[in-house]
Amino acid sequence: MSRRRIFVTTALPYANGPFHIGHIMEYIQADIWVRFQRMRGHEVHFVGADDAHGAPIMLAAEKAGKSPEAFVAGIAAGRKAYLDGFHLRFDNWHSTHSPENTALSQDIYLRLKRAGLVDRRPVEQFYDPVKNMFLADRYIKGECPNCGARDQYGDACENCSAAYAATDLKNPYSTLSGAKPVLKTSEHHFFRLSDPRCKAFLKQWLEAPGRLQPQVVNKAKEWLEGEGDKALGDWDISRDPPYFGIRIPELDDEKYLYVWLDAPIGYLASFKHYCARTGLDFEGFLQAPDTEQVHFIGKDIIYFHTLFWPAMLHFAGRPYKVPDHVYVHGFITVSGDKMSKSRGTGISPLRYLELGMNPEWLRYYIAAKLNAHVEDIDFSPEDFLARVNSDLVGKFVNIASRCVPFITKRYGGKLRGVALKKDTGADVASTVRHAAPEIAAAYDAREFGKAIRRIMELADEVNRFVDAEKPWELARQPGHESRLHTVCSEAIEAFRFLAILLAPVLPRTAESAAQLLGVKPFQWHDLEKFLGEGHAIAEYRHLLTRVEAKQLDQLFDLQSVPQSAAPQRHAEKQQHTAREKAVSDTITIEDFNKLDLRVARIERAELVEGADKLLRLTLDLGGPARTVFAGIKSAYDPAQLEGRLAVVVANLAPRTMKFGVSEGMVLAASGEGPGIFLIAPDAGALPGMRVK
Ligand SMILES: [Zn+2]
Repeated sequence: MSRRRIFVTTALPYANGPFHIGHIMEYIQADIWVRFQRMRGHEVHFVGADDAHGAPIMLAAEKAGKSPEAFVAGIAAGRKAYLDGFHLRFDNWHSTHSPENTALSQDIYLRLKRAGLVDRRPVEQFYDPVKNMFLADRYIKGECPNCGARDQYGDACENCSAAYAATDLKNPYSTLSGAKPVLKTSEHHFFRLSDPRCKAFLKQWLEAPGRLQPQVVNKAKEWLEGEGDKALGDWDISRDPPYFGIRIPELDDEKYLYVWLDAPIGYLASFKHYCARTGLDFEGFLQAPDTEQVHFIGKDIIYFHTLFWPAMLHFAGRPYKVPDHVYVHGFITVSGDKMSKSRGTGISPLRYLELGMNPEWLRYYIAAKLNAHVEDIDFSPEDFLARVNSDLVGKFVNIASRCVPFITKRYGGKLRGVALKKDTGADVASTVRHAAPEIAAAYDAREFGKAIRRIMELADEVNRFVDAEKPWELARQPGHESRLHTVCSEAIEAFRFLAILLAPVLPRTAESAAQLLGVKPFQWHDLEKFLGEGHAIAEYRHLLTRVEAKQLDQLFDLQSVPQSAAPQRHAEKQQHTAREKAVSDTITIEDFNKLDLRVARIERAELVEGADKLLRLTLDLGGPARTVFAGIKSAYDPAQLEGRLAVVVANLAPRTMKFGVSEGMVLAASGEGPGIFLIAPDAGALPGMRVK
């Protein structure tokens, strides 16, 4: 086996907040792969960095009363607790706001310009005359040109789902200053992604066998080969000041590189910083023909990593090299709820650590769920508890805890050579060992779930062997000393092989197991031989504890809920997102009585053609049927709604929407996180009853 040289990265987290569970999942995936490659003896360099530039960070810093530099430094200072806490062993963690990234980004920009791939064109855009800055669509609000709803964003209406340009909004205002924006023209720089050279290169790059997952190739080719208004456009890579970013070089006026241009270059900047620190030759490493450049990313940034990034690198030329692999994963949901990157709901990784929950439980659980496809995985608390306790503790650790004490108490801690075990029949340790190539292939292909399943099948087999041989009975019967010694030695040899196979996932437990077994930290080639006759092992110590249900309750903040009000599971996962919201100003009972709230039966629920969020509900309030449009499509299948009861504001003024008139409003709960929950009365309530 030749020694591979691999440069591995994970996507750079945006430095406007702490890590969320989605980041940790990606880092765990990459870290397991990296640890596996290292155990195989390959040379791997694994780096990360903070993505520190752009308008959102500039504005967040301003809001926090800090300079952008101080703001991102504060975020960066919090990273170590997570990385160490989950045993994520990056070789280097850097920032895109660094001298290395400035130099590399400016170099790449100039090389692309010299290659004739940078164009300049005037762009007309909204400008905030108070903040003196151009406004991205997300900083503009106004009245929907379609339904007239107020406070709608510059790209689409949340009320009627109409899509439009920011310049179509009526009475637009800047969300930054409240000022009325003016249209202003500025010269922007574009990377000519639509250039035939780029397209030809990308086609060939995308189609290289084994480079990308088939699903990713298909997605990227859809963009690459789009026609008409779906055609691949050029990419606006410049921003006007004020902007927190990297100056465009060799230019008289002050302009900055768009954050998405310098962000992936941050991979190289972190690697360069690491090379300088360790004496590795940055350019030499990148240019070596056997170097592999591998990026782990989420499915939301495929576009940037399979079109812009390889094209930038290719046309910038040596020493830059195009990625050998971009490995894409799906999102992590919690009990079926989608985690939002910006809102960061779900499991708090820091809370997980603060509760003293073992990081290897999460590593194991995530590994058991991951495969090489772009699929979302779900964290289910019940499943997590069951898998960790039954697999890791009940199957894997159980072998050592049952067999090690016999060896230390009766045989001076010395193993018997497995080759001598003729009296026991099947050699279960060899069975484990012989599965190693299959498991290695699964790790290498990022089929971690498959590797874990196979390892647990083997653990089952070892446990069946121990159950059949019953060392605890052999120990009570005179004359079975030799057999007991052999059985336990064989089980311990098998346990060691299992620990080696699990080591990429459970680095800390593997370390403890190696100490227990009196051997050096595991390498993959340790699977080639047995410990053998007379090898001394240590006294058994606990390797891993069980997950307690109480810990999961604490993780999801159930401690703060009184016992009597223990919510349903579905409500539990929302609990932590809905709490601590400031309550609105006090109103009088007269104010409240102005609301005519009624119980309604949903007679019919239908999809509304052309509306992304709305359902058309036909309601029975005890009188004539009413039509109400409700923005609950994301949460409810219309068929499930028919026949159920809801609560409606019956005296709300009718509102004319694009799709018809809405005669009331259906009440539903929602929090910061995703999910909408209809309010319903207890059984027995009838349509038309007043709610007060
Ligand atoms: Zn609208």
